[in-house]
Amino acid sequence: MTAAYETLNRLLAGETPSAAELAGLLKAQGKLRERLYAAADQVRSDKHGAAIHLRGIIEFSNVCKNNCWYCGIRCDNPNVTRYRMSFDEIAETAANARKWGCGTVVLQSGDDPFFNAETLSKILRRIKTETGLAITLSVGVRTRKELEIFKAAGCDRYLLRFETTSNALFTAMHPDESFESRTQCLQDLRTLDYQVGSGFMIGLPGTTLEMIANDILFATRLGLDMIGCGPFLAHPDTPFAGKPLLEDRSVYYKAIALLRLLNPYAHMPATTAFDALEPEGRNLVLRCGANVFMPNITPGKYRSMYQLYPNKPCVDEDGAACAICVRGRIAGLQREVGTGPGHSIRKTADASK
Ligand code: SF4
Repeated sequence: MTAAYETLNRLLAGETPSAAELAGLLKAQGKLRERLYAAADQVRSDKHGAAIHLRGIIEFSNVCKNNCWYCGIRCDNPNVTRYRMSFDEIAETAANARKWGCGTVVLQSGDDPFFNAETLSKILRRIKTETGLAITLSVGVRTRKELEIFKAAGCDRYLLRFETTSNALFTAMHPDESFESRTQCLQDLRTLDYQVGSGFMIGLPGTTLEMIANDILFATRLGLDMIGCGPFLAHPDTPFAGKPLLEDRSVYYKAIALLRLLNPYAHMPATTAFDALEPEGRNLVLRCGANVFMPNITPGKYRSMYQLYPNKPCVDEDGAACAICVRGRIAGLQREVGTGPGHSIRKTADASK
């Protein structure tokens, strides 16, 4: 038996491999790779069943004060037409999310100073009162005080990716932020009793398999309620323009499968960027560990203006078309649409240990 087979067996027995051992599994091909995917799918099935929870994303502002190197809406990109949705538009879109069967609405934007604690808490209160949906915010690094205000206004969950654990890479591509400020924000979210989501970008320029393995281990140590990871896709209007994909595309999927094996109870979305990687990308991710789908329900007129990466799918669709399409995909996978808010099951699982 090869070393990688032994590592997988130990992982399935509950051991956490070293970064070097995980990097060995990220190289898996053939039968070993299929075994890895099947094991991750089995763990997903055992812990989460057949349900795929729908979280409707509203990209409510593409204004951002930051300049992250990988991001198409970075403030220095002059080719972006900026927009902010009105309070009424955001609330109406959230009401549609409920109508289309989403248990959660995800409010995502650039780091836009207009949407401060005061403005965002008004929106959160209104959505909670009018829809009763679970609410996830994804609006960048915020102070503990702001996070307290969002929570009091009805926010249930928060998504903030750490993107990479490589200090050199993080510093180079985030001129406006430090890794410490992100991890501090993640800690604040935990102590404020949020359901916390984080993750990283797979295959950033200069990344080695060992670095991806370190990112997987770091995400696992964070004890996350949600883990969202997607492939790095070079946007032409960024300093990373023209940087290639990983030569072995299966690394993207193997990273997801390993995350699932190490984090059985975390909710894991099949992120939209996988469909930009290849047409059936999200379906493949749902077969190797993911249990969440995030249909884009942003009104059609704004979609083409919110392109963090190129070839983003569904920019010409509207929310209703996405909601119908996603149901077809889920049925095609012989899975079912999850009911209810799809809250974290990690805490319940921890309590029963
Ligand atoms: S990744 Fe987020 S914070 Fe960074 S430039 Fe893009 S929208 Fe702004």
